[in-house]
Amino acid sequence: MKSQEVRSKFLSFFEEKKHGIVPSAPMVLKDDPTLMFVNAGMVPFKEYFLGNGKPKNNRLADSQKCLRVSGKHNDLEEVGYDTYHHTLFEMLGNWSFGDYFKKEAIAWAWELLTEVFGIDKDILYVTVFEGSDDSDNLKMDTEAYDIWKQYISEDRILKGNKKDNFWEMGDQGPCGPCSEIHVDIRSAEEKAKVSGKDLVNEDHPQVVEIWNLVFMQYNRKANGVLEALPNKHIDTGMGFERLCMVLQGVQSNYDTDVFTPLIREIETITSKTYGKNEEVDIAIRVISDHVRAVAFSIADGQLPSNTGAGYVIRRILRRAVRYGFTFLDKKEPFLYRLVDVLSTQMGKAFPEIKAQKQLIENVIKEEEQSFLRTLDQGLVLLNRIVDETKGDTVSGEKAFELYDTYGFPIDLSALILSEKGLKLDEKGFNEHLQKQKERSRAASEMSTDDWTILVEDAEEEFIGYDSLQANVKLTRYRKVTSKKDGDMYQLVFNLTPFYPEGGGQVGDKGYLEDAHGDVVYILDTKKENNVIIHFTKNLPSHVNETFKAVVDAKQRYKTECNHTATHLLHQALREVLGNHVEQKGSAVHSKYLRFDFSHFSKLTTEELQEVENFVNRRIEGKLPLQEKRNIPIDEAIAEGAMSLFGEKYGDTVRAIRFGKSIELCGGTHVKNTADIWHFKIVSEGAVASGIRRIEAITNDAVKDFYFENNKAYFEMKDLLNNAKEPVKALQNLQDENTSLKKQIEGLLKDKAKNIKSELKGELEAINGIQFLAKKLDLDAGGLKDVAFDLGSQFDDLFLLFATEQNGKALLSCYISKELVASKGLNAGQVVRELGRYIQGGGGGQPFFATAGGKNPSGIDEALSNAKKYLV
Ligand code: ATP
Ligand code: MG
Repeated sequence: MKSQEVRSKFLSFFEEKKHGIVPSAPMVLKDDPTLMFVNAGMVPFKEYFLGNGKPKNNRLADSQKCLRVSGKHNDLEEVGYDTYHHTLFEMLGNWSFGDYFKKEAIAWAWELLTEVFGIDKDILYVTVFEGSDDSDNLKMDTEAYDIWKQYISEDRILKGNKKDNFWEMGDQGPCGPCSEIHVDIRSAEEKAKVSGKDLVNEDHPQVVEIWNLVFMQYNRKANGVLEALPNKHIDTGMGFERLCMVLQGVQSNYDTDVFTPLIREIETITSKTYGKNEEVDIAIRVISDHVRAVAFSIADGQLPSNTGAGYVIRRILRRAVRYGFTFLDKKEPFLYRLVDVLSTQMGKAFPEIKAQKQLIENVIKEEEQSFLRTLDQGLVLLNRIVDETKGDTVSGEKAFELYDTYGFPIDLSALILSEKGLKLDEKGFNEHLQKQKERSRAASEMSTDDWTILVEDAEEEFIGYDSLQANVKLTRYRKVTSKKDGDMYQLVFNLTPFYPEGGGQVGDKGYLEDAHGDVVYILDTKKENNVIIHFTKNLPSHVNETFKAVVDAKQRYKTECNHTATHLLHQALREVLGNHVEQKGSAVHSKYLRFDFSHFSKLTTEELQEVENFVNRRIEGKLPLQEKRNIPIDEAIAEGAMSLFGEKYGDTVRAIRFGKSIELCGGTHVKNTADIWHFKIVSEGAVASGIRRIEAITNDAVKDFYFENNKAYFEMKDLLNNAKEPVKALQNLQDENTSLKKQIEGLLKDKAKNIKSELKGELEAINGIQFLAKKLDLDAGGLKDVAFDLGSQFDDLFLLFATEQNGKALLSCYISKELVASKGLNAGQVVRELGRYIQGGGGGQPFFATAGGKNPSGIDEALSNAKKYLV
């Protein structure tokens, strides 16, 4: 059965069981402080499990893109070495939100696997939670056991411990026992030797878990205590690629049609064959896996970068390049060439890959090029380290520096060193790595208290589109302590006019005031798992009273000008540059806006001008805001709104229209484009290959911009003696300056020539050394020229020159290489020691070194002390 069919059969099975089928949510998370990527099918539904929202249908099914490369679930190191863990994989899931529970979940899982997919039940094992005698003191899940008994013989129902059979979302939150379904796809011969029972959960490549059915029935509080959930939920996750392995009768996920087209392409590109050599095979598996993870992340809007989620993606990509570089001899970019195959193969189920193929290719290629350059530089540095190494071991510190500062992979260092017969002090390296990890962990440590609930089951209403002020009640609050911010409080109200950060727009600031006149400032507003959280430094003193909550209207208004301008800018770019332009990120602040978009070349001055004019014409056109709240997404799209890749939309959306610009947007906007007053682009540049960034300002910021420019203009004109044509006057001045510089250079050269012949006459022979210590009226370059010129004529020179330039002192010492060797003299040491007199320091090589200092009056003393080096 082809993989496409496996996916669609799963979905249609649950559709028949009255489940709503939803598309995969984007894999890169935007409003969850605890997680960077979706790492399990339940993540997009977290808010429902936490009780912060209700799904339209309380039964859902989907195939969710998951990435397990950081945090609690990190399979990165397994990938390539085993045959069934991936970084990116699809998790097939069916969900019940307070609807059906264990009975149906187990019955349907069984029906699907054994009847629809026809898997022989004699290759299946299931597990149930055995209970725990720790502080949770949980009983065995006999309920699940008794249900399983109806389908499968009892010797195939295994009891599992808390690690394998009690699922928790994190340190806090919904959790519960689970039942896993495992397959044993070994040959009959192997099975006769060892029972599959003994291999379940033992990391055997042919006895693997395919499906996990989680029965969520508890909530873990911050103090660790479990409480029963009022509504019980079902959360299941089945590894799509593993299921395909079983159904296609192969022994490895990489032998399914999910991976074989990629593997064939890698073979073609690298002229290597899969299945002949273990090292090569690992590399091919790593690459075919990683290119999927990277391509899907880019499609979801996450570009490789130096921080956060972007850094994780960059590391995955580099890991793939490294395996190609080391084991497949690929020294030039090639990963990007796999995107074509990927897009053909996955484009139907995941249209975001197909639609953005070109962009994905460009970004990957550029990343590959840049990392290959890093590798080249790293090789040079590594060779230098090798040259400097005495003995047979390279220190852990040196290797760590190469890894940390230059991004040179440690395993590559180890490999190259071993080829040169050297060892790497891995213990030392790991110690440095550990220390660094501890430093960053300490910096990001955070503790979160339980919520103090003031109003049970409170609903929260956002009224910030219509009001900037409201009388509100606190429904819950908690304290969060971090190294960075100290103690902060998070407050949730029954209703709020505060806009939470989202859609690129910053969160509102403002204040709370109670009837006693006590004021607490709201420093930021954010949305976490669908709850609007207000951040304050202090807890209000009267938490049970009513507060007047007031948004900082001025900041909000300026932000709105920038947000509306962002929509107009988006429209302008598509109009001026073409429909290939797609939004790739935006940041809307009160002071400025930033807009990233796909486009392949730098914008010309004319294009920028045209874009600016386009936006300003719409501002002058006084276009009113036309807002539609809660309309079905299909209706908005039919009207011409664009949905963005990587955004998660609900069933109903808000459409914002100004003239012909229509966007799906949850942000706040001006009532009329005329409110923006004026729009001005201040910069345009590249963020990555094929992605440009425009920064722009509106309203007061434009006035300030023009005011400052105008001021600078008059100051400049003043300096040019009020010239009628200041640009021309400046040009003249520059031309004159260039020609004067040339003249001076010539004069200095002549002077140096004269000085050299004079100096030659002043050399003094002491102890077989030609010596001269003298102050000269030359700059640093001049001193060096003279010294090297004399140096080329003698092999027994000791020169110390000094000069005074712009109130600073400079020493430079030249010693013939022959003297360095025969007398052990060292120019570096000379300038370091004599540098004391000019209150400075410096260094260089044994034959030439310089020192700078801030005390020119010490020059004479420095010069007169030079002779002592000759004895
Ligand atoms: P394993 O013990 O094999 O790592 P898990 O216990 O981490 O699995 P769950 O978190 O329960 O797995 O995820 C549900 C299902 O997702 C698993 O039954 C498996 O089929 C699949 N799965 C988990 N991790 C991966 C991965 N890294 N690559 C591919 N499929 C995976
Ligand atoms: Mg795992």
